[in-house]
Amino acid sequence: MTGLPLSPWRVHIATIRAIVAETPGVWTFGLSLDDPSVKYSFQAGQFNMLYLPGIGESAISVSSDPEEVGKLQHTVRAVGNVTRAMAKLQPGSQIGVRGPFGTSWPFESFRGKDVILVAGGLGLAPLRPVVYSLIRHRRDFGRVTLIYGVRSPADLLFSSEYESWRKGGIDVQTTVNVASLDWQGAIGSVTPLLAPLPIEPARTGLFTCGPEVMMRFVAAGAVQRGVPTGQVFVSLERNMNCAVGLCGHCQFGPEFVCRDGPIFPFDRVRRLMLVENF
Ligand SMILES: Cc1cc2nc3c(=O)[nH]c(=O)nc-3n(C[C@H](O)[C@H](O)[C@H](O)COP(=O)(O)OP(=O)(O)OC[C@H]3O[C@@H](n4cnc5c(N)ncnc54)[C@H](O)[C@@H]3O)c2cc1C
Repeated sequence: MTGLPLSPWRVHIATIRAIVAETPGVWTFGLSLDDPSVKYSFQAGQFNMLYLPGIGESAISVSSDPEEVGKLQHTVRAVGNVTRAMAKLQPGSQIGVRGPFGTSWPFESFRGKDVILVAGGLGLAPLRPVVYSLIRHRRDFGRVTLIYGVRSPADLLFSSEYESWRKGGIDVQTTVNVASLDWQGAIGSVTPLLAPLPIEPARTGLFTCGPEVMMRFVAAGAVQRGVPTGQVFVSLERNMNCAVGLCGHCQFGPEFVCRDGPIFPFDRVRRLMLVENF
């Protein structure tokens, strides 16, 4: 599995096979590529450009299991032109897929070590593939923890899967900013859940995806506890157009988020992430 695009410019036609309403305004689309001769594969954390003719193209992470070849899923929040149009599609509709693009979560370099995943909101979508991979290869890793924070219980993505993730050996911890009457879990940001976690810095990898302010606190907190900056990875989101490092839309200092990211070791982007409204 190379994870490299077959051709970065080639748009593959895909048919929507299933649509799952996840949370208000967020849907997971199950796709299959129409041309069976296309050998598509991706790595956990990569994204595709999804294309609707006459409307446009958007970068969307792959949210499915990289090892379930042929079962391609994208979890999409309807915010703008492409994503709102996608929200109106039905099973059987066709869309264009270009990709996969970008860097992936380097979970394999943490074999034998502990892995901490920290997600906020929709940031769980690009981390879900690594959850599947860690469960599949669970014996190869030490302690695996997922800390997930959202605004309210209704915003928890993939909540029907947490029980199977726990059975698969992942310590899943959730927190909400605003609780409902029946919520019995943690309230507040993800950082108080990280504080009591026993961390052996040298043997810990931390992957985080969510609002940038959350990632800054999470990454800086892990580094303060001794985790080397090169073992902390963040997934950055910037407005993308070409997805292959040519157009400059997603340029972040010297980095092109589409080509050099979206997943970066914190030491590489730390200085840039501290710049507000860059
Ligand atoms: C690597 C990567 C992975 C991503 N993964 C996901 C994912 O898994 N799921 C997901 O849902 N999103 C994901 N995104 C974000 C997604 O690419 C953006 O939200 C994208 O802009 C959506 O495209 P759109 O055409 O629907 O929105 P656009 O039309 O481009 O609008 C984007 C934003 O701009 C605002 N906007 C639009 N038009 C205007 C205007 N005229 N004036 C002012 N504001 C405006 C919208 O309200 C919206 O907030 C990812 C982004 C990146 C870079």
